[in-house]
Amino acid sequence: MWYLARKTTQTLVFLLVIAAPAAALYDVAQHARSIYGESLAARRIAEMGAVPDLMVRAQEYIWGSRSRNAPPLSESLAGSPWALRIGGYVMIEPLNALGALAAGGGAAGKILLAVLPLLLLTIVLGRVFCGWLCPVHFLLEMTDSLRATLVRLGVPVRNLRLKRGVKFAVLGLGALSTSVIGAQIFPLIYPPAVFGREMFEFIFYGSLGGGAIFLLAVALVEIFLSRRIWCRYLCPGGGLYALLGSFRVVSINRVPSLCDSCGDCNETCAFGLSPMTDRTGMECTSCLECVRSCPTDALAIRLNLPGHFRPHADAASSLSGEEAA
Ligand code: SF4
Ligand code: SF4
Repeated sequence: MWYLARKTTQTLVFLLVIAAPAAALYDVAQHARSIYGESLAARRIAEMGAVPDLMVRAQEYIWGSRSRNAPPLSESLAGSPWALRIGGYVMIEPLNALGALAAGGGAAGKILLAVLPLLLLTIVLGRVFCGWLCPVHFLLEMTDSLRATLVRLGVPVRNLRLKRGVKFAVLGLGALSTSVIGAQIFPLIYPPAVFGREMFEFIFYGSLGGGAIFLLAVALVEIFLSRRIWCRYLCPGGGLYALLGSFRVVSINRVPSLCDSCGDCNETCAFGLSPMTDRTGMECTSCLECVRSCPTDALAIRLNLPGHFRPHADAASSLSGEEAA
């Protein structure tokens, strides 16, 4: 059930990243119609490229004959997970909030209000943004089957390991550079933000920019060098969410009497954690793949309420870079 919920959530977020620029494009098309008239506007949109033309036509099919006086679609939905506006409420990611505060732009109160939902979610549930909401993680999960196929075909792939602490250094250096420069630099290397920009460019202009090359490189490195290498070792967002979720109240728990130490869960975990020995800690994304892989149902996601709370002893091993054998 939880697994289905995660996949549904990931799909919805992915569709949202497509829907937001598509809505903005539709508004542009509506505006063009009111200025140029139906046929000239259609020609102008067709000139923008095959992708924008297709997106406008698809939305016309969905929305039917929308009144010209209807409020623009982008008033209801705009942005990407990095900064999303739903109706009148703007929601931002914790990394965006950190960058905005470090850059010295915007009122702290407004930033706090905008970051509150995802901040609370991360503090309570840990690195759940990565496992459930990040659109790039959703795509990277699809590279797993490609990697598995290559392994089956005898193509050599590696399982490179770095120190997990590297991403905390990237996070710290990024925040420091942002405060020195006075402008956000995280969106340049933060995959969800890069992905949001690329989707916008693709839907509006039918082209892709340098960010697509960056994301493709991440995917290739995933396939040939190490699963979730960016997320495990380099992503500043992953580093921040791991730190914020250090004292989360959910974790993967194992019933030792049911566990036959087959190691399937460790093998499944793309983040190199060890649910088989109860070492998941601050890096766990609650993706539940280990729970699904356990043949004896020895694993489950559990709530650690105060009283039963077990500060993640394994957080130290995460910070020191220790991984499942
Ligand atoms: S570590 Fe970064 S790229 Fe990976 S899932 Fe988390 S936010 Fe997305
Ligand atoms: S320990 Fe389990 S839930 Fe946590 S990241 Fe690994 S596979 Fe996902």
